Amino acid sequence: MMLHELTISELTTRIGRREVSARQAMQACLDQIHRTNPSLNTFIKLDPEKALADADAADRALAAGESHSKRPLLGVPLATKDVIAVKDQPLNCGSRILGDFVSPYDATVSRKLKEAGAIIFGRLNMDEFAMGSSTENSAFGVTRNPWDPTRIPGGSSGGSAAAVAANQCYAALGSDTGGSVRQPAAFCGCVGLKPSYGRVSRYGLVAYASSLDQIGSLTKSVPDAALLLETLGGHDPLDSTSVPQPVPRFSHELTGDIRGLRLGIPREYVVGGLDPEVKASVDNAVKHLVSLGAEVQEISLPHTEHAVATYYIIATAEASANLARFDGIRYGKRVEGTDVIDLYARTRGSGFGAEVKRRIILGTYVLSSGYYDAYYLRAQKVRTLIRSDFTRAFEKVDAIVTPTSPTPPFKIGEKANDPLQMYLMDIFTISANLAGICGISIPCGFTASSPRLPLGVQLLGPALGESTLLRIAHAFESTTDWHREQAPV
Ligand code: GLN
Repeated sequence: MMLHELTISELTTRIGRREVSARQAMQACLDQIHRTNPSLNTFIKLDPEKALADADAADRALAAGESHSKRPLLGVPLATKDVIAVKDQPLNCGSRILGDFVSPYDATVSRKLKEAGAIIFGRLNMDEFAMGSSTENSAFGVTRNPWDPTRIPGGSSGGSAAAVAANQCYAALGSDTGGSVRQPAAFCGCVGLKPSYGRVSRYGLVAYASSLDQIGSLTKSVPDAALLLETLGGHDPLDSTSVPQPVPRFSHELTGDIRGLRLGIPREYVVGGLDPEVKASVDNAVKHLVSLGAEVQEISLPHTEHAVATYYIIATAEASANLARFDGIRYGKRVEGTDVIDLYARTRGSGFGAEVKRRIILGTYVLSSGYYDAYYLRAQKVRTLIRSDFTRAFEKVDAIVTPTSPTPPFKIGEKANDPLQMYLMDIFTISANLAGICGISIPCGFTASSPRLPLGVQLLGPALGESTLLRIAHAFESTTDWHREQAPV
Protein backbone atom coordinates (compact mmCIF):
# COMPACT_ATOMS: atom_id res chain seq x y z
CA MET A 1 0.00 0.00 0.00
CA MET A 2 1.21 3.49 -0.83
CA LEU A 3 1.92 5.88 2.04
CA HIS A 4 -0.88 8.29 1.12
CA GLU A 5 -3.40 5.43 1.00
CA LEU A 6 -3.10 4.54 4.69
CA THR A 7 -5.81 5.21 7.26
CA ILE A 8 -5.01 7.41 10.25
CA SER A 9 -4.50 4.41 12.53
CA GLU A 10 -2.21 2.69 10.02
CA LEU A 11 -0.21 5.89 9.61
CA THR A 12 0.21 6.56 13.33
CA THR A 13 1.33 2.96 13.86
CA ARG A 14 4.08 3.47 11.27
CA ILE A 15 5.03 6.89 12.56
CA GLY A 16 5.16 5.43 16.08
CA ARG A 17 7.53 2.71 14.91
CA ARG A 18 9.62 5.37 13.12
CA GLU A 19 9.05 3.61 9.80
CA VAL A 20 7.88 6.89 8.31
CA SER A 21 8.14 10.51 9.38
CA ALA A 22 5.39 13.11 9.52
CA ARG A 23 7.27 14.95 6.79
CA GLN A 24 7.12 11.93 4.49
CA ALA A 25 3.39 11.57 5.14
CA MET A 26 2.85 15.27 4.44
CA GLN A 27 4.97 15.10 1.31
CA ALA A 28 2.98 12.07 0.10
CA CYS A 29 -0.24 14.10 0.43
CA LEU A 30 1.27 17.13 -1.31
CA ASP A 31 2.49 14.95 -4.19
CA GLN A 32 -0.93 13.41 -4.54
CA ILE A 33 -2.56 16.86 -4.49
CA HIS A 34 -0.09 18.10 -7.08
CA ARG A 35 -0.99 15.19 -9.32
CA THR A 36 -4.76 15.10 -8.88
CA ASN A 37 -5.94 18.55 -7.84
CA PRO A 38 -5.92 20.07 -11.34
CA SER A 39 -8.69 17.64 -12.31
CA LEU A 40 -10.52 17.30 -8.97
CA ASN A 41 -10.40 20.89 -7.63
CA THR A 42 -10.68 19.77 -4.01
CA PHE A 43 -8.10 22.05 -2.37
CA ILE A 44 -8.87 25.71 -3.06
CA LYS A 45 -6.05 27.10 -0.88
CA LEU A 46 -2.82 25.40 0.07
CA ASP A 47 0.45 26.51 1.68
CA PRO A 48 2.84 23.57 1.11
CA GLU A 49 5.79 25.22 2.87
CA LYS A 50 3.81 25.84 6.03
CA ALA A 51 2.43 22.28 5.86
CA LEU A 52 5.95 20.83 5.65
CA ALA A 53 7.20 23.12 8.44
CA ASP A 54 4.35 21.88 10.66
CA ALA A 55 5.26 18.29 9.77
CA ASP A 56 8.87 18.96 10.78
CA ALA A 57 7.63 20.33 14.11
CA ALA A 58 5.68 17.09 14.64
CA ASP A 59 8.82 15.07 13.85
CA ARG A 60 10.76 17.11 16.40
CA ALA A 61 8.09 16.44 19.02
CA LEU A 62 8.31 12.72 18.25
CA ALA A 63 12.09 12.84 18.49
CA ALA A 64 11.75 14.56 21.87
CA GLY A 65 9.73 11.58 23.12
CA GLU A 66 6.11 12.58 22.56
CA SER A 67 3.86 9.71 21.59
CA HIS A 68 0.45 8.88 20.19
CA SER A 69 -0.78 7.72 23.58
CA LYS A 70 -0.96 11.37 24.68
CA ARG A 71 -1.36 13.02 21.27
CA PRO A 72 -3.20 10.49 19.11
CA LEU A 73 -2.92 12.47 15.86
CA LEU A 74 0.71 13.50 16.15
CA GLY A 75 2.07 14.04 12.63
CA VAL A 76 -1.18 13.23 10.80
CA PRO A 77 -2.02 15.56 7.86
CA LEU A 78 -5.71 16.55 7.93
CA ALA A 79 -7.69 19.22 6.13
CA THR A 80 -10.90 21.10 6.81
CA LYS A 81 -13.85 22.30 4.80
CA ASP A 82 -13.57 26.00 4.04
CA VAL A 83 -16.27 26.83 6.61
CA ILE A 84 -14.22 25.94 9.72
CA ALA A 85 -11.88 28.58 11.15
CA VAL A 86 -8.18 27.74 11.38
CA LYS A 87 -6.03 30.55 12.74
CA ASP A 88 -4.02 32.34 10.03
CA GLN A 89 -5.64 30.33 7.22
CA PRO A 90 -7.98 31.91 4.63
CA LEU A 91 -11.70 31.42 5.39
CA ASN A 92 -13.98 31.85 2.40
CA CYS A 93 -16.91 29.41 2.86
CA GLY A 94 -16.75 28.75 -0.88
CA SER A 95 -17.90 32.34 -1.44
CA ARG A 96 -16.60 35.52 -3.00
CA ILE A 97 -18.04 37.66 -0.22
CA LEU A 98 -15.27 37.02 2.29
CA GLY A 99 -12.64 38.32 -0.13
CA ASP A 100 -9.16 37.85 1.30
CA PHE A 101 -10.37 37.25 4.85
CA VAL A 102 -7.97 35.28 7.05
CA SER A 103 -9.22 33.70 10.26
CA PRO A 104 -7.86 35.41 13.37
CA TYR A 105 -8.63 32.43 15.61
CA ASP A 106 -9.05 28.66 15.75
CA ALA A 107 -12.43 26.94 15.84
CA THR A 108 -12.66 24.68 18.89
CA VAL A 109 -12.32 21.64 16.61
CA SER A 110 -9.19 23.12 15.01
CA ARG A 111 -7.68 23.79 18.44
CA LYS A 112 -8.47 20.25 19.55
CA LEU A 113 -6.97 18.72 16.40
CA LYS A 114 -3.81 20.76 16.88
CA GLU A 115 -3.58 19.78 20.55
CA ALA A 116 -3.86 16.15 19.45
CA GLY A 117 -0.89 16.75 17.15
CA ALA A 118 -2.60 16.88 13.74
CA ILE A 119 -1.24 19.01 10.94
CA ILE A 120 -4.17 21.03 9.56
CA PHE A 121 -3.31 22.15 6.08
CA GLY A 122 -5.24 23.52 3.10
CA ARG A 123 -8.82 24.62 2.52
CA LEU A 124 -11.33 22.24 0.97
CA ASN A 125 -13.94 23.26 -1.57
CA MET A 126 -17.63 23.31 -0.72
CA ASP A 127 -20.99 24.63 -1.83
CA GLU A 128 -21.13 28.32 -0.93
CA PHE A 129 -21.99 28.63 2.78
CA ALA A 130 -22.73 24.87 2.77
CA MET A 131 -25.88 25.35 0.69
CA GLY A 132 -26.07 22.54 -1.81
CA SER A 133 -25.74 18.83 -2.45
CA SER A 134 -23.18 18.79 -5.26
CA THR A 135 -20.32 21.30 -4.68
CA GLU A 136 -21.42 23.02 -7.88
CA ASN A 137 -22.39 26.16 -5.92
CA SER A 138 -18.84 27.25 -5.15
CA ALA A 139 -17.23 30.52 -6.17
CA PHE A 140 -14.07 28.43 -6.64
CA GLY A 141 -15.47 26.12 -9.31
CA VAL A 142 -16.95 22.63 -9.19
CA THR A 143 -15.20 19.70 -7.46
CA ARG A 144 -15.13 16.44 -9.39
CA ASN A 145 -15.79 12.94 -8.12
CA PRO A 146 -12.56 10.87 -7.99
CA TRP A 147 -14.47 7.77 -9.16
CA ASP A 148 -15.77 9.54 -12.27
CA PRO A 149 -14.69 13.12 -13.04
CA THR A 150 -17.85 13.78 -15.07
CA ARG A 151 -19.86 13.45 -11.85
CA ILE A 152 -20.38 15.53 -8.73
CA PRO A 153 -18.76 14.42 -5.46
CA GLY A 154 -21.88 15.31 -3.46
CA GLY A 155 -22.13 18.29 -1.21
CA SER A 156 -21.84 20.48 0.48
CA SER A 157 -18.65 18.93 1.91
CA GLY A 158 -17.74 17.62 -1.56
CA GLY A 159 -14.16 18.86 -1.37
CA SER A 160 -13.63 17.06 1.94
CA ALA A 161 -15.05 13.75 0.70
CA ALA A 162 -13.27 13.82 -2.66
CA ALA A 163 -9.95 14.73 -1.01
CA VAL A 164 -10.18 11.76 1.36
CA ALA A 165 -11.28 9.42 -1.44
CA ALA A 166 -8.36 10.61 -3.58
CA ASN A 167 -5.91 10.11 -0.67
CA GLN A 168 -4.91 13.79 -0.67
CA CYS A 169 -5.23 13.86 3.13
CA TYR A 170 -5.74 11.15 5.75
CA ALA A 171 -9.12 12.52 6.84
CA ALA A 172 -11.08 15.74 6.63
CA LEU A 173 -13.66 17.69 8.56
CA GLY A 174 -16.93 18.77 7.05
CA SER A 175 -20.19 20.22 8.31
CA ASP A 176 -23.60 18.58 8.12
CA THR A 177 -26.75 20.70 8.29
CA GLY A 178 -28.95 18.39 6.22
CA GLY A 179 -26.60 15.63 5.04
CA SER A 180 -23.51 17.46 3.88
CA VAL A 181 -21.08 15.00 5.47
CA ARG A 182 -23.00 11.77 4.93
CA GLN A 183 -24.12 12.29 1.32
CA PRO A 184 -20.68 13.20 -0.13
CA ALA A 185 -19.19 10.34 1.89
CA ALA A 186 -21.61 7.96 0.15
CA PHE A 187 -20.87 9.47 -3.27
CA CYS A 188 -17.09 9.25 -2.83
CA GLY A 189 -16.88 5.91 -1.01
CA CYS A 190 -15.74 7.13 2.40
CA VAL A 191 -17.06 7.05 5.94
CA GLY A 192 -19.04 10.15 6.92
CA LEU A 193 -20.07 10.68 10.53
CA LYS A 194 -22.53 13.35 11.62
CA PRO A 195 -22.47 13.43 15.41
CA SER A 196 -25.57 14.28 17.43
CA TYR A 197 -26.43 17.95 17.72
CA GLY A 198 -24.33 19.37 20.54
CA ARG A 199 -21.78 16.54 20.65
CA VAL A 200 -19.11 18.66 18.93
CA SER A 201 -18.67 22.39 19.53
CA ARG A 202 -19.71 24.67 16.67
CA TYR A 203 -17.51 27.52 17.86
CA GLY A 204 -15.59 28.68 14.79
CA LEU A 205 -17.91 26.93 12.31
CA VAL A 206 -19.42 29.65 10.13
CA ALA A 207 -23.15 29.30 10.76
CA TYR A 208 -25.58 28.26 8.05
CA ALA A 209 -28.59 27.07 10.10
CA SER A 210 -27.54 27.10 13.73
CA SER A 211 -30.16 24.69 15.08
CA LEU A 212 -29.16 22.05 12.49
CA ASP A 213 -25.40 22.54 11.92
CA GLN A 214 -22.95 19.98 13.22
CA ILE A 215 -19.29 19.33 12.43
CA GLY A 216 -18.53 15.82 11.21
CA SER A 217 -15.68 13.77 9.83
CA LEU A 218 -14.84 12.16 6.49
CA THR A 219 -12.49 9.25 6.97
CA LYS A 220 -11.22 6.11 5.26
CA SER A 221 -12.40 3.84 8.08
CA VAL A 222 -14.80 3.60 11.00
CA PRO A 223 -12.02 3.40 13.66
CA ASP A 224 -10.70 6.70 12.28
CA ALA A 225 -14.17 8.24 12.66
CA ALA A 226 -14.28 6.98 16.26
CA LEU A 227 -10.85 8.43 16.99
CA LEU A 228 -11.75 11.83 15.56
CA LEU A 229 -15.04 11.98 17.46
CA GLU A 230 -13.39 11.24 20.79
CA THR A 231 -10.81 13.93 19.99
CA LEU A 232 -13.35 16.56 18.92
CA GLY A 233 -16.36 15.86 21.15
CA GLY A 234 -17.24 17.40 24.48
CA HIS A 235 -18.70 20.44 26.14
CA ASP A 236 -17.28 23.79 25.16
CA PRO A 237 -18.05 26.94 27.14
CA LEU A 238 -17.78 28.84 23.85
CA ASP A 239 -20.80 26.97 22.40
CA SER A 240 -23.80 27.03 24.72
CA THR A 241 -25.51 24.32 22.66
CA SER A 242 -22.67 21.84 23.17
CA VAL A 243 -23.78 19.05 25.47
CA PRO A 244 -22.20 18.83 28.95
CA GLN A 245 -21.79 15.05 28.80
CA PRO A 246 -18.61 13.03 28.98
CA VAL A 247 -17.34 11.72 25.64
CA PRO A 248 -17.02 7.92 25.55
CA ARG A 249 -13.77 6.33 24.33
CA PHE A 250 -15.50 5.32 21.14
CA SER A 251 -12.50 3.48 19.72
CA HIS A 252 -12.52 1.11 22.71
CA GLU A 253 -16.12 0.19 22.04
CA LEU A 254 -15.60 -1.24 18.56
CA THR A 255 -15.99 -4.80 19.72
CA GLY A 256 -17.25 -6.24 16.45
CA ASP A 257 -20.13 -7.82 18.36
CA ILE A 258 -23.57 -6.70 17.25
CA ARG A 259 -25.50 -9.81 18.23
CA GLY A 260 -29.00 -9.00 19.41
CA LEU A 261 -28.90 -5.36 18.32
CA ARG A 262 -32.23 -4.30 16.87
CA LEU A 263 -32.26 -2.53 13.51
CA GLY A 264 -35.28 -0.67 12.16
CA ILE A 265 -36.11 -0.27 8.49
CA PRO A 266 -38.49 2.66 7.99
CA ARG A 267 -41.30 1.74 5.63
CA GLU A 268 -41.61 5.38 4.48
CA TYR A 269 -38.09 5.30 3.08
CA VAL A 270 -38.94 3.09 0.13
CA VAL A 271 -39.84 6.09 -2.00
CA GLY A 272 -40.46 6.64 -5.68
CA GLY A 273 -37.21 7.70 -7.29
CA LEU A 274 -35.16 5.28 -5.21
CA ASP A 275 -32.55 3.88 -7.56
CA PRO A 276 -32.75 0.05 -7.86
CA GLU A 277 -28.99 -0.42 -7.39
CA VAL A 278 -29.06 1.76 -4.29
CA LYS A 279 -31.97 -0.25 -2.94
CA ALA A 280 -30.30 -3.59 -3.69
CA SER A 281 -27.03 -2.55 -2.01
CA VAL A 282 -28.84 -1.40 1.14
CA ASP A 283 -30.92 -4.61 1.21
CA ASN A 284 -27.68 -6.59 0.97
CA ALA A 285 -26.12 -4.51 3.76
CA VAL A 286 -29.09 -5.32 5.99
CA LYS A 287 -28.77 -9.03 5.18
CA HIS A 288 -25.10 -8.85 6.04
CA LEU A 289 -25.83 -7.20 9.39
CA VAL A 290 -28.37 -9.93 10.10
CA SER A 291 -25.74 -12.56 9.32
CA LEU A 292 -23.61 -10.87 12.02
CA GLY A 293 -26.39 -11.37 14.56
CA ALA A 294 -28.48 -8.18 14.32
CA GLU A 295 -32.27 -8.40 14.34
CA VAL A 296 -34.39 -6.48 11.87
CA GLN A 297 -37.89 -5.08 12.09
CA GLU A 298 -39.95 -2.69 10.03
CA ILE A 299 -40.64 0.63 11.72
CA SER A 300 -42.61 3.72 10.81
CA LEU A 301 -41.50 7.35 10.72
CA PRO A 302 -44.87 8.72 9.64
CA HIS A 303 -43.93 12.38 9.15
CA THR A 304 -41.06 11.64 6.76
CA GLU A 305 -42.92 13.04 3.76
CA HIS A 306 -42.84 16.53 5.33
CA ALA A 307 -39.14 16.52 6.16
CA VAL A 308 -37.81 18.17 3.01
CA ALA A 309 -40.31 21.04 3.13
CA THR A 310 -39.78 21.52 6.87
CA TYR A 311 -36.03 21.58 6.48
CA TYR A 312 -36.02 24.08 3.63
CA ILE A 313 -38.18 26.48 5.66
CA ILE A 314 -36.19 26.26 8.89
CA ALA A 315 -32.76 26.17 7.26
CA THR A 316 -33.45 29.14 4.98
CA ALA A 317 -35.02 31.14 7.82
CA GLU A 318 -31.94 30.65 9.98
CA ALA A 319 -29.63 31.30 7.03
CA SER A 320 -31.32 34.60 6.23
CA ALA A 321 -30.55 35.77 9.77
CA ASN A 322 -27.04 34.27 9.97
CA LEU A 323 -25.89 35.67 6.64
CA ALA A 324 -26.99 39.21 7.52
CA ARG A 325 -23.53 39.67 9.05
CA PHE A 326 -21.90 39.65 5.61
CA ASP A 327 -22.63 43.27 4.93
CA GLY A 328 -19.43 44.69 3.49
CA ILE A 329 -18.67 46.53 6.73
CA ARG A 330 -17.35 43.83 9.02
CA TYR A 331 -15.59 41.24 6.89
CA GLY A 332 -13.94 40.66 3.58
CA LYS A 333 -15.22 42.14 0.37
CA ARG A 334 -16.69 45.64 0.17
CA VAL A 335 -18.25 47.33 -2.86
CA GLU A 336 -18.62 51.06 -2.17
CA GLY A 337 -22.03 52.65 -2.76
CA THR A 338 -23.72 56.02 -2.65
CA ASP A 339 -24.85 55.39 0.94
CA VAL A 340 -24.69 52.53 3.42
CA ILE A 341 -27.82 50.76 2.07
CA ASP A 342 -26.40 50.96 -1.43
CA LEU A 343 -23.09 49.59 -0.12
CA TYR A 344 -24.90 46.61 1.47
CA ALA A 345 -26.82 45.95 -1.73
CA ARG A 346 -23.80 46.15 -4.00
CA THR A 347 -21.59 44.07 -1.71
CA ARG A 348 -24.18 41.36 -1.16
CA GLY A 349 -25.42 41.51 -4.74
CA SER A 350 -22.00 40.79 -6.17
CA GLY A 351 -20.60 38.77 -3.23
CA PHE A 352 -23.22 36.02 -2.93
CA GLY A 353 -23.94 33.40 -5.57
CA ALA A 354 -27.40 32.53 -6.94
CA GLU A 355 -28.23 29.68 -4.54
CA VAL A 356 -27.31 31.71 -1.45
CA LYS A 357 -29.46 34.58 -2.68
CA ARG A 358 -32.36 32.20 -3.37
CA ARG A 359 -32.17 30.92 0.20
CA ILE A 360 -31.87 34.34 1.80
CA ILE A 361 -34.95 35.46 -0.12
CA LEU A 362 -36.88 32.29 0.81
CA GLY A 363 -35.82 32.56 4.44
CA THR A 364 -36.73 36.22 4.69
CA TYR A 365 -40.12 35.46 3.16
CA VAL A 366 -41.00 32.63 5.60
CA LEU A 367 -40.06 34.87 8.54
CA SER A 368 -41.96 37.94 7.29
CA SER A 369 -44.83 39.05 9.49
CA GLY A 370 -47.63 38.01 7.13
CA TYR A 371 -46.26 34.52 6.54
CA TYR A 372 -44.48 33.62 9.78
CA ASP A 373 -47.39 31.58 11.17
CA ALA A 374 -48.11 29.82 7.89
CA TYR A 375 -44.53 28.75 7.24
CA TYR A 376 -41.95 29.15 9.98
CA LEU A 377 -44.16 28.46 12.97
CA ARG A 378 -45.82 25.52 11.25
CA ALA A 379 -42.45 24.09 10.22
CA GLN A 380 -41.33 24.22 13.86
CA LYS A 381 -44.41 22.21 14.84
CA VAL A 382 -43.75 19.61 12.16
CA ARG A 383 -40.14 19.46 13.31
CA THR A 384 -41.42 18.42 16.74
CA LEU A 385 -43.50 15.67 15.11
CA ILE A 386 -40.49 14.41 13.15
CA ARG A 387 -38.44 14.38 16.32
CA SER A 388 -41.08 12.38 18.18
CA ASP A 389 -41.23 9.87 15.31
CA PHE A 390 -37.59 9.08 16.09
CA THR A 391 -38.11 9.04 19.86
CA ARG A 392 -40.82 6.42 19.39
CA ALA A 393 -38.75 4.42 16.92
CA PHE A 394 -35.75 4.31 19.25
CA GLU A 395 -37.94 2.76 21.95
CA LYS A 396 -38.11 -0.30 19.68
CA VAL A 397 -34.77 -0.34 17.87
CA ASP A 398 -31.11 0.52 18.55
CA ALA A 399 -30.42 1.93 15.09
CA ILE A 400 -32.22 2.70 11.84
CA VAL A 401 -30.89 1.64 8.43
CA THR A 402 -31.59 3.62 5.25
CA PRO A 403 -29.90 4.51 1.97
CA THR A 404 -27.77 7.65 2.37
CA SER A 405 -28.94 9.10 -0.94
CA PRO A 406 -31.74 7.95 -3.26
CA THR A 407 -29.37 7.78 -6.26
CA PRO A 408 -25.69 7.29 -7.05
CA PRO A 409 -23.66 10.46 -7.77
CA PHE A 410 -25.17 12.32 -10.71
CA LYS A 411 -23.56 14.13 -13.63
CA ILE A 412 -22.14 17.61 -13.23
CA GLY A 413 -24.83 20.04 -14.42
CA GLU A 414 -27.60 17.44 -14.39
CA LYS A 415 -29.63 19.07 -11.60
CA ALA A 416 -27.98 22.48 -11.48
CA ASN A 417 -30.99 24.25 -12.99
CA ASP A 418 -33.59 22.40 -10.97
CA PRO A 419 -33.32 23.37 -7.29
CA LEU A 420 -36.33 21.28 -6.29
CA GLN A 421 -34.82 18.08 -7.73
CA MET A 422 -31.62 18.93 -5.89
CA TYR A 423 -33.47 19.50 -2.59
CA LEU A 424 -35.26 16.14 -2.94
CA MET A 425 -31.87 14.41 -2.94
CA ASP A 426 -31.70 15.18 0.80
CA ILE A 427 -34.72 13.05 1.65
CA PHE A 428 -32.84 10.43 3.71
CA THR A 429 -30.39 12.67 5.53
CA ILE A 430 -32.20 15.82 6.68
CA SER A 431 -34.53 14.24 9.24
CA ALA A 432 -31.53 13.43 11.44
CA ASN A 433 -30.62 17.12 11.60
CA LEU A 434 -34.21 18.14 12.32
CA ALA A 435 -34.28 15.60 15.16
CA GLY A 436 -30.74 16.30 16.43
CA ILE A 437 -29.76 12.62 16.26
CA CYS A 438 -26.55 11.05 14.94
CA GLY A 439 -25.91 9.36 11.60
CA ILE A 440 -23.14 7.69 9.69
CA SER A 441 -22.72 6.71 6.05
CA ILE A 442 -20.45 3.79 5.20
CA PRO A 443 -19.55 2.23 1.84
CA CYS A 444 -21.79 -0.71 0.90
CA GLY A 445 -21.23 -1.38 -2.78
CA PHE A 446 -20.82 -0.04 -6.29
CA THR A 447 -22.97 0.49 -9.32
CA ALA A 448 -22.53 -1.90 -12.25
CA SER A 449 -21.83 1.07 -14.56
CA SER A 450 -18.47 1.87 -16.06
CA PRO A 451 -16.77 3.57 -14.36
CA ARG A 452 -18.35 2.12 -11.25
CA LEU A 453 -19.68 4.51 -8.62
CA PRO A 454 -19.66 4.06 -4.84
CA LEU A 455 -22.87 3.51 -2.87
CA GLY A 456 -23.47 4.21 0.81
CA VAL A 457 -25.73 2.92 3.56
CA GLN A 458 -26.79 5.18 6.40
CA LEU A 459 -27.19 4.19 10.04
CA LEU A 460 -29.09 6.52 12.34
CA GLY A 461 -28.89 6.40 16.13
CA PRO A 462 -30.54 8.30 19.00
CA ALA A 463 -29.07 11.54 20.35
CA LEU A 464 -25.63 10.83 21.86
CA GLY A 465 -25.91 7.23 20.63
CA GLU A 466 -22.73 7.31 18.54
CA SER A 467 -21.19 4.33 20.37
CA THR A 468 -23.75 1.86 19.07
CA LEU A 469 -23.69 3.42 15.63
CA LEU A 470 -19.92 3.15 15.38
CA ARG A 471 -20.01 -0.41 16.68
CA ILE A 472 -22.46 -1.50 13.99
CA ALA A 473 -20.58 0.39 11.28
CA HIS A 474 -17.30 -1.14 12.38
CA ALA A 475 -18.74 -4.67 12.49
CA PHE A 476 -19.95 -4.16 8.92
CA GLU A 477 -16.71 -2.63 7.72
CA SER A 478 -14.46 -5.25 9.23
CA THR A 479 -16.37 -8.04 7.48
CA THR A 480 -16.65 -6.35 4.05
CA ASP A 481 -14.13 -4.92 1.59
CA TRP A 482 -16.00 -1.97 0.08
CA HIS A 483 -14.01 0.63 2.03
CA ARG A 484 -10.70 -0.77 0.78
CA GLU A 485 -11.38 -0.06 -2.88
CA GLN A 486 -9.35 2.83 -4.25
CA ALA A 487 -10.71 5.52 -6.55
CA PRO A 488 -9.07 5.41 -10.02
CA VAL A 489 -7.21 8.71 -9.78
N1 GLN B 1 -28.20 19.82 0.77
C1 GLN B 1 -28.65 20.47 1.97
C2 GLN B 1 -28.78 21.96 1.75
O1 GLN B 1 -28.46 22.40 0.68
C3 GLN B 1 -27.73 20.15 3.11
C4 GLN B 1 -26.56 21.01 3.18
C5 GLN B 1 -25.75 20.79 4.41
O2 GLN B 1 -25.88 19.80 5.10
N2 GLN B 1 -24.92 21.77 4.69
O3 GLN B 1 -29.20 22.69 2.62
